[in-house]
Amino acid sequence: MSLLKPTTKTPFHIDFDWWKKNERDWHVFLRSLLCAEHQEAFTEVEEGGMIDWIDPKTAEVKAVDGIQHTLMSHCALLPEFSDSHTAMVEAVFRVFLANGNVPMSADDLSKRLERPADIILRTISGPRVYRGLRPYQANVPSPDKEDEA
Ligand SMILES: [Zn+2]
Repeated sequence: MSLLKPTTKTPFHIDFDWWKKNERDWHVFLRSLLCAEHQEAFTEVEEGGMIDWIDPKTAEVKAVDGIQHTLMSHCALLPEFSDSHTAMVEAVFRVFLANGNVPMSADDLSKRLERPADIILRTISGPRVYRGLRPYQANVPSPDKEDEA
């Protein structure tokens, strides 16, 4: 864990691993964000159902969470997914879903959301982690181990 205080230049992302470990209802929440069509499609799929997905960059086949993937590749890209009434933390979360969870700093998010960078930073860097929004540590290779639950 880094003790460096994040600045508006610090990249953040959704740390799905952290989120899944720390909040029991993460799946319910993700499911609630699916578009109507996919809500329907996933009613039969059990929680944590994995699908094979080909990483476009490395052509590597990975098992990914079906709902998470569907959300990021379809539902989050619909125009109605983000609107200006969304609360700050929710808006930030949705930007990451829609951009494929590419790390962005508060400065980047500020341009995207047209809200002040310092307020965005305060929202996502507080003592309470919301929706797995955490600083992205590029120098720490993410351990690609699966939780065999
Ligand atoms: Zn969808």
